[in-house]
Amino acid sequence: SANSDFTLAIEDLTVSFDGFKAVDSLNLYIDKNELHVVIGPNGAGKTTVLDLICGKTKATSGSIKFLNKELTDLSEHDIVRAGVGRKFQTPSIYENLTVMENLEVSYPKGRSVLGALMFKRSEQVMAKINEIAKEIMLEDELDTEAGLLSHGQKQWLEIGMLLIQNPQLLMLDEPVAGMSVKEREQTAELLNKISSGRSVLVIEHDMEFVEQIAHKVTVLHQGKILAMGDMASVQSDPKVVEVYLGH
Ligand code: ADP
Repeated sequence: SANSDFTLAIEDLTVSFDGFKAVDSLNLYIDKNELHVVIGPNGAGKTTVLDLICGKTKATSGSIKFLNKELTDLSEHDIVRAGVGRKFQTPSIYENLTVMENLEVSYPKGRSVLGALMFKRSEQVMAKINEIAKEIMLEDELDTEAGLLSHGQKQWLEIGMLLIQNPQLLMLDEPVAGMSVKEREQTAELLNKISSGRSVLVIEHDMEFVEQIAHKVTVLHQGKILAMGDMASVQSDPKVVEVYLGH
């Protein structure tokens, strides 16, 4: 079908909690190289959509195709292995390990922290670590203990730990929460770079940041799509204005 060109094709996706539809007949398509932002008021269903994609929540009905593979029946672990990475708001870095070690343990061959540290650092692994460290702006901090990094740097490190697993879809939940103005700008650049060659799906509340990064915006409201398109068209949509400004 025509939808097979998309990295992610969500069709007619619904999840009910005790009869309440948190996500209701959702259709969402994301291309390769696309940075797609989901916005919407609290309780709109944004987090639930990400939970459904990564398998944390099971759909009541509908389909989630990732690179033409149906995800709805897979375990969370298999969804990660299929190439879906998700960054939560709270970073899950190892504070006592260095930046390099954090990247090293996240390399697909590192099955456990201990095993990965004992694993001989091959040239291939080191080249990848250096490449990622540069991308996440931490090339000068490779020997720094992760716990000593700034709040923003910790977020970037976690993005790096996902990137080293080479995901084709990267999902981020409010990636600039708590960041300084400078860090937000650097994060916008970082997200722009990492959307090249893959797909990125972001939940974001900060409209100024959405405007900076989004190729496409989906507005969710009560589990349904209220509007979808580029930022300018979505912002001027009367339905969106009404939901955001009330009356
Ligand atoms: P958002 O991320 O847009 O703020 P959520 O996806 O967190 O919204 O939640 C959407 C709705 O679904 C909310 O009304 C929330 O209370 C409800 N919800 C989410 N997860 C569950 C769950 N596991 N059980 C029951 N209700 C849930």
